[in-house]
Amino acid sequence: MEPTPHEAMSDCPTSSRPYPDRVIRSVVFDVGETLVNDTREWRAWADWLGVPPHTVSALVGAVTAQGRDNADALRLIRPGIDIAAERAAREAAGHGEQLDETDLYPDVRPALAALRERGLWVGIVGNQTVRTAELLRALNLPADAIATSGEWGAAKPDPEFYARLTEWAPGAPGEIVYVGDHPANDIHPARAAGLRTALIRRGPWGHLAAEDPAARAAAHWYINGLGELPALLSPP
Ligand SMILES: [Mg+2]
Repeated sequence: MEPTPHEAMSDCPTSSRPYPDRVIRSVVFDVGETLVNDTREWRAWADWLGVPPHTVSALVGAVTAQGRDNADALRLIRPGIDIAAERAAREAAGHGEQLDETDLYPDVRPALAALRERGLWVGIVGNQTVRTAELLRALNLPADAIATSGEWGAAKPDPEFYARLTEWAPGAPGEIVYVGDHPANDIHPARAAGLRTALIRRGPWGHLAAEDPAARAAAHWYINGLGELPALLSPP
């Protein structure tokens, strides 16, 4: 059988797996370094802990390369830090989490809107606080639903997070795509839960994964920007 244009597209270099049934109902996005540029939040931690922003960024890179939790960057700066307590202290001091339009990557609104125009359900859920969920909802993004691990009480890569996600987003697991920058949190566990996956080259993890054939091969699609998704995930 001749491949349709869409099937042919799935064979292009940005796609590591064929997509035979061409049925995607929902596209669900990670938050940090997929939709949101985390620069402001890491800078806030640098200011709070009294070190230069470059020190925090470099340590985030170091722990990322070591496959560690990115919060370990803060633990290296202040051994024994209670991150939840420190986060609460930041909020109380008026230096809490902030998130506005300038923190979004510029392709977010057009890409999410285009996916919805093509009839896809768009969700946003990542490893974030309850406060982040409030801030995200205040942005009035073109999304059908927004949640965070803080609200769900389950965080990636825990299978419980993905079990919750597959109940939340319309469609069978194989009809849901999870889009993220972090292979260990976003791609491998989502695949294990039966979801389709798209890995974006964005942020420290996404750029590191660009040189990691195993990480790229683990994703159904590998993208350089969100604007690639509408054509990849729905027929023209
Ligand atoms: Mg992320």
